[in-house]
Amino acid sequence: MKVCEKCGALNSDNRFFCVDCHEKLGDAVSEREQGDIEQGLDTVLENLYNNNDPLHVSWFDKVMGILSLVGAVASLVLLVVGLVTQRDFTVLWVAVFFFALTAVEALVPKFMWSLEQLRLSFHISNFEDTEPSMFYKTSRKICIVIGAGVGVAALLIAALDLRVF
Ligand SMILES: [Zn+2]
Repeated sequence: MKVCEKCGALNSDNRFFCVDCHEKLGDAVSEREQGDIEQGLDTVLENLYNNNDPLHVSWFDKVMGILSLVGAVASLVLLVVGLVTQRDFTVLWVAVFFFALTAVEALVPKFMWSLEQLRLSFHISNFEDTEPSMFYKTSRKICIVIGAGVGVAALLIAALDLRVF
């Protein structure tokens, strides 16, 4: 492989002039350099693929998902505290439910999308070909924020009620 010094285009060894800009090409790169270039290309392609994947789990999703998991665990711990102190802990089940739902929505969007496809299968015949719409993707983000918000609110109400703080 030869790399054009002028435009950076990749050319095969048997070319003397760049396929893109017709600049005269130098010597072929070493096998190691070629490996590095190909690895770089793989990364670029992988990023492109991820950006095109409508159900790609972003950093925002990961952070929200992990925080929701922590929230769900904290709610379960408080549920035990509530049991021991014989308090009304109904609101904690709300927290556990919303945190768990948010964690699944944030971390495994493909699972939620398969549920959506199941719902669609009752309405349209070619539901397997459907891609998540802009509306679906936006709704998903809003659901994550609201779900985590409701979870935190329920957890706070319960914690105040149990006088944990
Ligand atoms: Zn060139």
